[in-house]
Amino acid sequence: MFAHEKISKPGVDAVETNRCRYCYKEIRDRDELVTASNWFRVRPFHYRCFELLERDAKTIAGTWNPVNGRTGLVSVILMLVLFIVMWTTDLLGGIGDLLGLLALYPVVLRVFSFFVFEVRLPKYIENKPRQ
Ligand SMILES: [Zn+2]
Repeated sequence: MFAHEKISKPGVDAVETNRCRYCYKEIRDRDELVTASNWFRVRPFHYRCFELLERDAKTIAGTWNPVNGRTGLVSVILMLVLFIVMWTTDLLGGIGDLLGLLALYPVVLRVFSFFVFEVRLPKYIENKPRQ
């Protein structure tokens, strides 16, 4: 009996990754999820909370860049192309290789965001109650 209860409880880790870092409420599906990076941190936010955060960020130091969504995807593709070009050609030599590595950074963030935050959430929940 008790063993079953233990299994059905969500892990602490799962709860943490589904919680918006702005309002501290649960993020219920990928439709309302925005993952954003600030230096080497990636944090989950609600779509609407992220807009508020961006407004705040103009007065408070540190900006958050969206990792998922269309903007994130475009930069990931561009950076991946840059990485491949820098590593498969001798363009700019050693500096080119270094630039290639730096270009890989948003790609790594995107993959990290996907496996840590997005995989755990359902794609879309219809008729979500308003929070
Ligand atoms: Zn929120």
